[in-house]
Amino acid sequence: MVLFETVPRPPPRSRRPPPSRVSPITLERAERIAKSQPCARCGEYSFKQLRVRPAPDSQRDAVGTAWVVTRTCGICGAVEELGIDGDGDVVY
Ligand SMILES: [Zn+2]
Repeated sequence: MVLFETVPRPPPRSRRPPPSRVSPITLERAERIAKSQPCARCGEYSFKQLRVRPAPDSQRDAVGTAWVVTRTCGICGAVEELGIDGDGDVVY
C-alpha cells in the first residue's frame, strides 16, 4: 500500500510586496531621494527650499508618481519639480 503524503506548501510569494498605491515610500524617503539628485542646471546638491507633497490622482494613474517635489537650488536659484514613484524612482 502506498501512501501519498500531502505536504502543505505555502503559496508562492515574492519577497518584495507588490507595488501598492496605498503604501508608497515615506515622505522622508522621498525627501532624501530628492536631495540626492543634483540640480539640473548647475549640478549642485544644495537646496534652500524643498517641499514634498503627495502626487495628484491624475499623475498617480498616468505615470505612477507617488510624490511631487518642488525644490529651489541654493546655488543658482533654479526651481525644479521632481516626480517620485512608489518604489523611490525619479519619474521626471
Ligand atoms: Zn543649481
